[in-house]
Amino acid sequence: MARIRTVKPSLFTHEVLWQAEQDTGLPLRVAFIGLFTASDREGRFKWRPRELKLAVLPYDDVDFSRVLDGLQVHGLVAKYEVDGEFFGYIPTWAKHQAINQRESQSTLPDPHGGARACTLPEMQLHSPVNIPSAIRATVLARDENRCSRCAAKSDLTIDHIFPQSIGGTHLPTNLRILCRSCNSARPVQGKGLIDDLAKDGLTMDDMQRMCMHVTAHVEGKRKGSGKEVEGEATRKRAPTFDAASIDLPEWLNPDLWKTWVADRAQRRKPITENAAKQQIADLTEWHGKGLDIHRAIKDAINGGWQGLFEPKTKANGANGHTPPADLTEQWMALRGCIRDGRQPADPILAAVALKFGGIHRLGERTTFDLDRMRRDFDSAYNSAKSANA
Ligand SMILES: [Zn+2]
Repeated sequence: MARIRTVKPSLFTHEVLWQAEQDTGLPLRVAFIGLFTASDREGRFKWRPRELKLAVLPYDDVDFSRVLDGLQVHGLVAKYEVDGEFFGYIPTWAKHQAINQRESQSTLPDPHGGARACTLPEMQLHSPVNIPSAIRATVLARDENRCSRCAAKSDLTIDHIFPQSIGGTHLPTNLRILCRSCNSARPVQGKGLIDDLAKDGLTMDDMQRMCMHVTAHVEGKRKGSGKEVEGEATRKRAPTFDAASIDLPEWLNPDLWKTWVADRAQRRKPITENAAKQQIADLTEWHGKGLDIHRAIKDAINGGWQGLFEPKTKANGANGHTPPADLTEQWMALRGCIRDGRQPADPILAAVALKFGGIHRLGERTTFDLDRMRRDFDSAYNSAKSANA
């Protein structure tokens, strides 16, 4: 039976809850408030995801067991088991709810009276065991089932951005999808790791920031109350940085840079201040070598990549083993179609795609395969063009 409950204004500034929603991409704030109305006077409820979903998020296309897992991972609800039946309770309940004395007594078992605590996802945050399946599913969905670095859609693995060996957690903020080759290319320690993190605009300081709300929560637990989550995790967030507004070198096309910044923002991977500095430094170095730095940006946009990579073409297009520059636009257009899984509008490109097995088959290839295919693209394109003429 649903009940009228109170909501304190502080709930809307509850940073852990906000962070939990960011981490999981699930409507945890509304779900959490909804759970108040589904809980009895002791803040207990039956852990029945389907029933709870109908009561709390009837129109949302979400798996409520993932919602509960997300709340549990962040310490907002706790799960327990009595005689094979699962229940949940809200640890901060007594602090936030004033219960009408006429409300009937709880008929659900006491979580502290001989119940078995089900701390599964939470206990696994720091342990070198498998990533909980709910978190794995969350990360896969958030990263759209593709490698965060090269956009490959096959041979995917879950990568710990900050490796477990240095204390990285299984929290979704520390996880992302990488293909096996991008994952195994990452150094796990030392300067190599620091340089690699810089590609994503991260420093070792960010690890502490990223893990702080977990640490605060776990320490709250250690102190024995479990109620100290709120207010402890006062993470300082840097003021919003806009990579589009930085000073650019005069050789860099400002419109293209803005397109790149907007593209990253649209993919919900906005360029951080550190990343912007690093990218401008890289571009400066490549520009100094006479490389086509605009190509590097265009390739990153078209490939859906998170970072910029050293372009293989010279700024003047001259390079022995690279294909003629005049077909690069067409190649990038095809890559865009492969990335988005749509048919090329250009009949010649459509014919080329077909020759390579079709857009969907191409979408299953790794970036490495596609890069190798680039060598065959020009001749395929030219023959398709002459057949079309
Ligand atoms: Zn990759």
